Amino acid sequence: MTELDRKQDRTPVPKEWTYAPAPESRDIVALDERYGHFVGGKWLEPSVTYTTISPATEEPLAEVGQATPEEVEAAVAAARDAFENGWSGISAAERAKYLFRIARILQERSREFAVLESLNGGKPIKESRDVDLPLAAAHFFYYAGWADKLEYAFPNRRPRPVGVAGQIIPWNFPLLMLSWKIAPALAAGNTVVLKPAETTPLSALLFADVLRQAELPPGVVNIVTGDGRTGAALVKSKGVDKIAFTGSTEVGKAIQRELAGTGKKLTLELGGKAANIIFDDAALDQAVEGIVNGIYFNQGHVCCAGSRLLVQESIYEPVVEKLKRRLTTLRVGDPLDKNTDVGAINSKQQLEKIRELVEAGEQEGAEIYQPPCRLPEKGYWFVPTVFTNVAQSYRIAQEEIFGPVLSVLTFRTPEEAVEKANNTPYGLSAGVWTEKGSRILWMAEHLRAGVVWANTFNRFDPSSPFGGYKESGFGREGGRHGLEPYLAFDKSALP
Ligand code: NDP
Repeated sequence: MTELDRKQDRTPVPKEWTYAPAPESRDIVALDERYGHFVGGKWLEPSVTYTTISPATEEPLAEVGQATPEEVEAAVAAARDAFENGWSGISAAERAKYLFRIARILQERSREFAVLESLNGGKPIKESRDVDLPLAAAHFFYYAGWADKLEYAFPNRRPRPVGVAGQIIPWNFPLLMLSWKIAPALAAGNTVVLKPAETTPLSALLFADVLRQAELPPGVVNIVTGDGRTGAALVKSKGVDKIAFTGSTEVGKAIQRELAGTGKKLTLELGGKAANIIFDDAALDQAVEGIVNGIYFNQGHVCCAGSRLLVQESIYEPVVEKLKRRLTTLRVGDPLDKNTDVGAINSKQQLEKIRELVEAGEQEGAEIYQPPCRLPEKGYWFVPTVFTNVAQSYRIAQEEIFGPVLSVLTFRTPEEAVEKANNTPYGLSAGVWTEKGSRILWMAEHLRAGVVWANTFNRFDPSSPFGGYKESGFGREGGRHGLEPYLAFDKSALP
C-alpha cells in the first residue's frame, strides 16, 4: 500500500454529498445607519429618508435620503460650480490621474464592494466578485486612458466637454452602471450628478468614499438618492446639459418627451428581448452553458439577457432535454454563498411583475418547466423557469420579463431565425451558436441588434460599444463611441 492509499484509507467518507454552506463574510462592509446625499464633496443631510433592505432576507440595511427637487438643485449647482471653477480647466492628463486612482481603489476595495452589492441587490457573490467589480474597475482604467487623447479620438472636430451630466441608473448592475456612466463623463471633462436606483443605493454611496480617497475635487461627482421622483427632478433641472439614462423603455420614453425641444443631449439604454439562436451544427453542451448564462445570470435581471431561445427544429429535443437537466443543478439561494448560481429577485415589485408574466404564459398555453427547488422562506425568490410551446404572439415572447424565465421557440432556416429574432419592438442584443463563420457573419448582418455574440453570451469589455436599436434606445456606452455623448464639437470643425 502506498502512503497516499494509506491516507485515503483514514479519510472519513462524508455522510452527505450536498454542498456545505460557503458564505462570504459580511464583516468587511461597515454600514452607516443613515446616509445623506453626496453634494460638493460633503454629506448633505436629507429632509426625507427611506429604508433600503436586503432582498434576500428583507432585513433593513440603512436609511437613505429621498432627494427633493431642492436637494437635486443643490447637487446640480455643486456640479456646475466644479465644472466652471476648476474641472473643465485642468489638464486632460490631470483628469486621467483621478480616473486611474479611482480604478485602483476599486480594485483594492473590490471584496468590500462585491459583498455590499450582493447584500443590497441580491446577486450571487461569485458574479459581483468576478464580473461587476473587475468590469467596473476596467471601465475607469479604460477611460482614464482616453482622457488626454480626445483630439485623436475625434480628429479635426475640436472636442470639448458638454458641462453637467445628469445620470440615472438601474438596480441590476448598480456599481457597473455607475462606472459606465461616470468614467466616460469625467474623461471627457464633464461633472456629474448621479442618481442610483431606489432599491440599490448603497454601492454608489460607498463609492463616494472612493472619491474622497482619490482626492477628486469637490463637486465633480455628486450623488443623490431617491426614487423615480428624484430622477424626474434631475431630468427637469435647467442646470443639466446632458441626461444619460439606463432603465425601462417606458421611463425612457417619458424622459425623451420631457427633453424634446430643450437642446439637452440624451442617451437612452433601455430594455431588450434578445434571441439566443442555436443552429444544429453548434457544440450543444457549450450552447447549453451559453443559454444558462444568457438567461439565469443575475437572475435574468439583464437588459441584454437571452430571454428568447430560438432552436433549430432538428435539435429541439436534445437541447431542451440537456437544458432541463442542467437546470436541476442550479443552486438558488443566499447571494453571499460562494456556491450560489441564482440569487434573490431584486424587489417585491419585480417579483410580482415576473409572477404576472409567468401566469400569462401559462394561461396563453405555453408549457412550464421548473426544476425541483427549495426556496428560502424570507426574501424574494423565483425558481429558474423554462417555457416550451411558446407562440411568438405570447406576452412571454414579446415583453421583457427581467427575471429567470426563458421562452423556447423553434426555426428551420437562417432566414426564419432572423425574422423571428427581429420580431420584437426591441433591438439590444442577440446570440448565434454555430460552427460556421460565414453563417455568423450573415446572421450578424441581418439581426437588428446593437450587440451580436457568437458562440458566447453576456460578454462585456470596456473597449466594446454597447447600445440598442428601436425601443432599446440610442447612443452607445463603452469604447471610443461612449465618449461622444459627453462631448460637444465645434460647428466649424469637420465633419
Ligand atoms: P425604471 O426605468 O423605473 O428605473 C430606472 C431608473 O430610473 C431608476 O433609477 C428609477 O428610479 C429611475 N426613474 C423612475 N422613474 C423615473 C422618471 N419618471 N424620471 C427619471 N427617472 C426615473 O425601471 P424599474 O426599476 O421600475 O424596473 C421596471 C422594469 O424596467 C423592469 O421590470 C425591467 O423590465 C425594466 N428595466 C430595464 C433595465 C435595463 O437595463 N434595460 C434596468 C432596470 C429595469 P427608481 O429606482 O427609484 O424607480
